[in-house]
Amino acid sequence: LLEVRNLQKRFGNHEVLKDINLAVTKGEVLTIIGRSGSGKSTLLRGLNLLEPPTSGQILFHGENVLADNFDLIRYRTKVGMVFQNFNLFNNLSVLDNVVVPQVTVLKRDKGAAKKHGMEILQQMNMGPFVNAKPAQLSGGQKQRVAIARSVAMDPEMLLFDEPTSALDPEMVDDVLAAMKDLASTGLTMIVVTHEMAFARDVSDTVIFMHDGVVGEQGTPAQIFEHPREAATRDFLKRYL
Ligand code: ATP
Ligand code: MG
Repeated sequence: LLEVRNLQKRFGNHEVLKDINLAVTKGEVLTIIGRSGSGKSTLLRGLNLLEPPTSGQILFHGENVLADNFDLIRYRTKVGMVFQNFNLFNNLSVLDNVVVPQVTVLKRDKGAAKKHGMEILQQMNMGPFVNAKPAQLSGGQKQRVAIARSVAMDPEMLLFDEPTSALDPEMVDDVLAAMKDLASTGLTMIVVTHEMAFARDVSDTVIFMHDGVVGEQGTPAQIFEHPREAATRDFLKRYL
C-alpha cells in the first residue's frame, strides 16, 4: 500500500532522516518506537507531506506521491493523521468536527455525513457527547473525537503521532482500546508510540528508529524478546 525508498530529510545542514526504507501492506499495523529526537515525527510528517522530504521516494499504490501532478488533497483523505494534541476545531460541536471535513473535503451530502459521523462516534463511545464542545471533554475524549474525525473520511491508512502522550494516565487505555478496535477492522495504521504494550500486542511490525535511520525492524517478538542491535536493547531497557 505504501512504500518508502531512501527517504531523507534535512533542516538546514541537520540531517534528521538519513536513509529510510519501509513498506506497509494493506491491513498492517506498523509501530515506530525510538528515543526523543530520533526523527519519528519527521518521518510521519514526511509521509503525509506536511514536511516534504528532501529526497527519496514515497509510493502509494505504486504512485509517486512526490510527483508534481500528484493529487495531494485526495491523498490526505486516503492517508489521515492523528496528532498528539488532537487539533480539533474548538468552536464546533463534536458532531460538526466529524461532519464538516466530510462535507468540505469529500463533498459528502450533509445528511449522509451526519449519519456516518454518528455511527463512528458511537463506535468510539462518544455518542452521549455529540453536542458538546471540545472544551467540555477530557483529553481522552478529545482524542477519540479526533480519531473519529479521521475515520469518518474513510481512509485507507491512518498515521498516529504519539496519540496518547498528551493524556493523563487514566485516559490512555481508553484511547489505546479504540485504536486496537480500529486495527481489528483491518485499517492500515502507522503508530508512533511510547506505549510498548500496545506495540507488542497490536502491531504486526515494529520499527526502532535511531538517529534518523531504521535501527531495527521486525515482528514484536523479534524486537521485544530478541533484539539484535545494542541500541534497541539499550532503548528497551528503560521500559522493563
Ligand atoms: P519525540 O519522541 O520527542 O517526539 P521525534 O523522534 O519525533 O522525537 P522529531 O520531532 O522527528 O523527533 O525530531 C528529530 C530532529 O529533527 C530533532 O533534532 C528536531 O530538533 C529536528 N527538527 C524537527 N522538526 C524540525 C524543524 N521544523 N526545523 C528544524 N529542526 C527540526
Ligand atoms: Mg515526535
